[in-house]
Amino acid sequence: MSTSELPVTSNFIRTIIAEDLASGKRSQVITRFPPEPNGYLHIGHAKSFSLNFGLAEDFGGCCHLRFDDTNPVKEEDEYVEAIKADVRWLGFDWGEHLHFASDYFDQLYLWAVQLIKTGKAYVDSQTAEQMRKNRGTLTEPGADSPFRDRSIEENLELFQKMKNGDFPGGTHILRAKIDMSSPNMNLRDPAMYRILHAHHHRTGDKWCIYPMYDFAHGQGDSIEGVTYSICTLEFEDHRPLYDWFIEKLEIFAPQQVEFARLNLSYTVMSKRKLLQLVNDKHVSGWDDPRMPTLVGMRRRGYPAAAIRTFCERIGVGRGASWIDLSVLEECVREQLNQSALRRLAVLDPLKVTITNYPTDKIEELDAANHPQQPELGSRKLPFSHELYIDRDDFMEEPPKKFFRLAPGREVRLRNAYIIKCEEVIRDESGYVVELRCSADLDTLGKNPADGRKIKGIIHWVSAVQAEEVEVRLYDRLFNQENPDKTENYLNALNPESFQSSTALIEPELMNAELGTTFQFERIGYFTVDSKDSLPGTPIFNRTVTLRDTWAKLK
Ligand code: ATP
Ligand code: MG
Repeated sequence: MSTSELPVTSNFIRTIIAEDLASGKRSQVITRFPPEPNGYLHIGHAKSFSLNFGLAEDFGGCCHLRFDDTNPVKEEDEYVEAIKADVRWLGFDWGEHLHFASDYFDQLYLWAVQLIKTGKAYVDSQTAEQMRKNRGTLTEPGADSPFRDRSIEENLELFQKMKNGDFPGGTHILRAKIDMSSPNMNLRDPAMYRILHAHHHRTGDKWCIYPMYDFAHGQGDSIEGVTYSICTLEFEDHRPLYDWFIEKLEIFAPQQVEFARLNLSYTVMSKRKLLQLVNDKHVSGWDDPRMPTLVGMRRRGYPAAAIRTFCERIGVGRGASWIDLSVLEECVREQLNQSALRRLAVLDPLKVTITNYPTDKIEELDAANHPQQPELGSRKLPFSHELYIDRDDFMEEPPKKFFRLAPGREVRLRNAYIIKCEEVIRDESGYVVELRCSADLDTLGKNPADGRKIKGIIHWVSAVQAEEVEVRLYDRLFNQENPDKTENYLNALNPESFQSSTALIEPELMNAELGTTFQFERIGYFTVDSKDSLPGTPIFNRTVTLRDTWAKLK
């Protein structure tokens, strides 16, 4: 099924919001995208923030960008800047609403004290091991901590000391006093604060206690007046906890709505795994063109518009959503088919000599930049008596339906003449090294006068003017549909996901700007690598093939 036939799934969140606005339950729409700055964003995050920014746009509201930076150990400014750039790249704007959970550390501390004072929180001094034991299991209730009934005064004093740095990490935590036998594990006296003697990327050494994500997240939304906290399904079980904090603190209550996360075949999306791929050098970095990260996709040449289209097409629902990678690739092809200028390049050259063309003549042929869009102009294409074609486009004993070059056969050279293969030249081992062809010099921009039909068109470059460049042929990083299902996802890595090769390209391409994508006619879309290209030495990344070659393998 081509993606343009995919139904646009109705968005149940949009329906909820429209109803709330109609009934007067809410009067405005404020959403947010809350990444943790501990890695680069991937296509799953793009689904989340397209949804959040998209809904805000639709309803005339706004969407905040909030970094959930409650874990100082793993977080870095490098990620903050990269995430901002990625969100902007897809065309979204948070305006003045750039926030950090760490902006709320003072307020969160005061709220923790407030909960202690109302008997809703206590300092627990069990070891991690004891705590784990007493937590119970999904089928058995937990047991109360021996410290659960500490007096308010003692709790206040201990919490103050935790804050002052009087204790080493891991000795005490602050817990909410809810219910150790709740069937919802998240309500079994969850941790609110832990001791971490760690430097924070924004608050420096001010704190040695840090709020848990679950104590910071809902309150962050509340402080910002977020009306819809849209998140993925795994937070559904946390919702009662977020609501509990909001209720006990008597503060503004956002509404949490959960949707199914995006799973993409032939891909992993856990940040831990992506980091491992980088650290263990299975890829060249977060921006390796095979990574499912937005920096990787950008470098590979995926247009932002294609990713937005993809996020719209896959829709938003609550059922597990597995999307085949080919759907994304098809969005990329559709977009590039419209926007990419056409060029000629040859990946596996076979020499062709035009025997009836003067050896000292060079013609500058006019070649349209885009067959359907004349407004994109044209460029000059040198033609001479020595050319290269792709070896694939010649067969000595062609099967039926092979309409390209073969002994005695005619074919059209793209933007040039019709040629006929008169002679095949081999080396001593019998390997074909050259084709000698005649050209019908009366067929430039027109069909043969005698009405003979030429079915094949092939691409070519002029031997002397062509330039040799590096092309990086990227394929899927994994060769299993669900790498997470294999015992070790690293075993599902596709050993052929990267191949460096050379191509002969038409001279015009040497001036291409970094990051520009072209269609190498009949081969695929290629983008000038923005990182490793040097002035005068472009390197081309294969962005996507012209057709889905995986579909036919299955
Ligand atoms: P990981 O679990 O790998 O650490 P994460 O989901 O915790 O990643 P966050 O930075 O916390 O990463 O994610 C920010 C937002 O993006 C969250 O609201 C999260 O629900 C959403 N998100 C993450 N992955 C996906 C996905 N695959 N599909 C849709 N939304 C996602
Ligand atoms: Mg997270």
